[in-house]
Order: sequence, then structure tokens, then C-alpha cells
Amino acid sequence: MKGPIIMKFGGTSVADAKRLRGVAALAAERSSQGVLLVLSAFSGVTDTLFAAGKAAVAGNEAEALDLLAKMIQRHRDTAAELLSTPAGTLPPQVESVIESARIELGSVLKGAALLKALPDRSMDILAGRGELLSTAILAAYIGAPWIDARRVMRTDSRFGCAKPLTDEIRELAAKEMLPLVGPGMVAVTQGYIGADETGAPTTLGRGGSDYSASLFGAALGASEIQIWTDVEGVLTCDPRVVPQARPVELLGYDEAAELAAFGAKVLHPATILPAVELGIPVTVRNSMVPNGRFTTISRESASGQPVTALASRGPVTVITVRTPRMLGGSGFLASIFETFGRRGVSVDLVATSEVSVSVTVDGKAEVEELAADLAELGEVRIERDRAVVALVGERLLKTPGIPGKAFAALTDISVEMISLGANEINLSLVVAKAKAAEAQRRLHAAFFE
Ligand code: ADP
Ligand code: ASP
Ligand code: MG
Repeated sequence: MKGPIIMKFGGTSVADAKRLRGVAALAAERSSQGVLLVLSAFSGVTDTLFAAGKAAVAGNEAEALDLLAKMIQRHRDTAAELLSTPAGTLPPQVESVIESARIELGSVLKGAALLKALPDRSMDILAGRGELLSTAILAAYIGAPWIDARRVMRTDSRFGCAKPLTDEIRELAAKEMLPLVGPGMVAVTQGYIGADETGAPTTLGRGGSDYSASLFGAALGASEIQIWTDVEGVLTCDPRVVPQARPVELLGYDEAAELAAFGAKVLHPATILPAVELGIPVTVRNSMVPNGRFTTISRESASGQPVTALASRGPVTVITVRTPRMLGGSGFLASIFETFGRRGVSVDLVATSEVSVSVTVDGKAEVEELAADLAELGEVRIERDRAVVALVGERLLKTPGIPGKAFAALTDISVEMISLGANEINLSLVVAKAKAAEAQRRLHAAFFE
């Protein structure tokens, strides 16, 4: 028997009553196979919840509560419009989700304003509420079962960026979800949120709904994981940076994972992994143009192109340690990386020469104490506000001339570091953050236009 289809809809795809009607129609078209709808919060809601938390911590209780009140009202209005009921008489299941958001989040924000602090644990109660609201409203509209993802998405207790526990999720999904997504059935659940073993609410990190969809897909043996968003699939570059970017029809799992890891926001970086293990195809589709072009990501469908797409991430900080003692010596790299490990700073790209090693780390990482430790090993240089621009393609390093063409496109943009991915599908260049957009436009023109 074919497994169900997972259909994940991101924020803009569930922004208002009209879009929610579209979501319901798309799910109905596919219901013969069984559908699990995984929704994000309405667009902008998670940002609002973070903003309310920040205002509360800054002591601005009134502002925080005002943001909450407007957010609650938006859900009431959307529900009333969608369900064609006058505001104030919503179905009891919708009413109770909205009311508990109003009361509980109000208390969280008042507490935060009083203490001028909002621990990650409480922040997750706030941050994850948008998904509970959006799904309660859609489930009532289509008359489908509403599954509380916190009963299935078991995670560890790293609030704010919790790690899913896949064995537990598989067992819980078999019990709580599988019976509701058989042929002819549609059920609704939330992306982004989970709970730890004590039941405390957690979140998977910003943009985590894609990851939820693929985790549920793997747990349910789905036949396809569909990521419905506001663009026609994975494009050759971020369209906000390069308007000429065009859709990529076929992508291999490795290519997609690499693009996501290097900043293509269209997919959360962890989305591909659960799908790869079971060979489940992931498609990325445009909810505004449902019958338009889309991207299929699977084991078989690598693009076959030397360069499939570009991605960029930043700011990053470049740390270079230079010492003549590296020449012919041994153990220096080990001591350098041991220092990073001890200081808990995670290393991203690495490039080495005879006498120096350069690495990139996240621009937000605290590097002062690390730099002091590294200074015992050699001369240390710290360069901030850099960005990584990555070219990704299945046959990138097997095709002669690609690095040359990339450098020719960037003649007057200085490339400060180069790293070739060990998996041979990625060429990463580090440039000044301020030049990253221009670098992508030049590379896009050289390789795709
Ligand atoms: P959703 O809310 O549906 O999850 P996101 O905003 O998280 O949507 O992701 C979609 C956005 O990702 C697009 O609108 C686009 O601006 C951005 N993006 C960045 N890189 C790419 C890319 N290579 N292909 C498509 N979209 C990209
Ligand atoms: N709503 C969450 C966010 O904005 C999760 C998601 O949309 O993927 O980060
Ligand atoms: Mg997203």
C-alpha cells in the first residue's frame, strides 16, 4: 500500500482565509491517498510572537500585550471569515485554542515583563503558538481531525532548537497519526513544534516546519513529502537577490541538502535527511500556482548540471591562525581544533596552507576568548562581516573550468577564502558580506543567463 502524502504549507501559503481555502482544496484533490497537512503559523505570526517576547523583556508590557491582542484578533477575524460565522461565535474547538493562547501567552508576557527575562523554555511556549492557532482554524474549516504535534514530535529539551528523537516519533506517529491518514482521509497537524519527555513544549528552530514535515513523512512511510511555499520550487538562486533566478526541475538529495545548508531558505537545512533514509521524494511547490512548475528532490533526480544553483549565508567570521611552526610539523591542526572544541565554537569551512589555517564560524559566535587561546598557537587574525557564497552541483568538481569561470565572474570582488566540499558538489567562496549579493548576481549571470 502507498503511504500518505505529507503536504506542508508555509506562512504565506496560510496567510488568510482565501489561502486557507486554497490549501483545503489542494488537500481534497489528493485525499484518495491519505493526506497529513502540516502547517506553519500565519505569515508574520512567529515574528510577532518573538517581537512581543522582546518587548516584554525590555519592560514594555503594554506593547507586548498589544502585539498579542492584535495577533489574537487576526485569528478571530480569519476564523470568522473562513467559517462564515459572526466573530464571537466560533466553534468550541477553535474558541478554546484561541482563548488559551490569549490567556497563557498573556501570562508569559506579563511574567517576562516583570522579570525582564524570558527563558528559552518559556519562549517556546510563546513561539510555537502560531502553529496551534493556524491548524485549529483550518481543521475546523475542513472538518478534519486536529492532531496536536506535541503528542508525536518528541524532542530533547534544548528549547529553541530542540533535536527530534526519531525512534520515539516513529512509535508515536504510528499510534496517533497513522490511523487518521489512511486512504480517503485528511488530518491536520503543526510544523515547528514538539514536546520533550516531560511534555514541555519545544520548537525545532526558525523555519522548522519543513523539518517537521519530513520527520512525519519518514515516521509514516509517506509516498511523497510536498513542501508548498511561495515560489516555484527551488530556484537557481534566492529570487530576492537575483530576480532572474529560475526553477530547478530535478535535484539530488545531496544537492538539495547542500543548498539548504548554505543558506537557501526555501528548505530548512535538516529537511532532506529523514527523507533520504527511506528514499521518499520531496517536492517543492508553489501554493499560488499549484499546477505550475515545481522541483523534485530524490535519489535518482540529480540535476546532471555542473552548477545547479547558488546559495549564500552570512554574516560569518573568518579566523586565521598562522605559524611557521606548521611547516613540516605535526599536531598543530589537532591543537587548533581542540581549542575550538573546548570553547564550543562550531567550525564551518576550513582551508589550510603550509603555514596557516583559516576557518569560518557563525557571525554570532563569541570569538574573543577563543582568539586569546588560539594566540598561544600562532598569530591570529579575525575578520568579521564576511559571507559564504556557494556554487552547488552534482558534477561541479568533475567538470573542468568551473572554478576558473567563477573567478572570472568575480574579477573585482575579492575572494578571501575558498573551500571545496569533500563531497565534490560544492565550491564555497568567502567574500565581504556587503559584496555577497553582487557576487551572486555575477555568478548567476555567468552560469545561468
Ligand atoms: P515558507 O514560509 O513557505 O516556509 P520561506 O520564506 O521559509 O517560505 O522560504 C521561501 C523563500 O525562500 C522564497 O520566497 C525565497 O525568497 C527564499 N529562497 C532563498 N533561496 C531560494 C532558492 N534557491 N529557491 C527558492 N527560494 C529561495
Ligand atoms: N513558523 C515558524 C517560523 O516562522 C516555522 C516555519 O514557518 O517553518 O520560523
Ligand atoms: Mg520556511
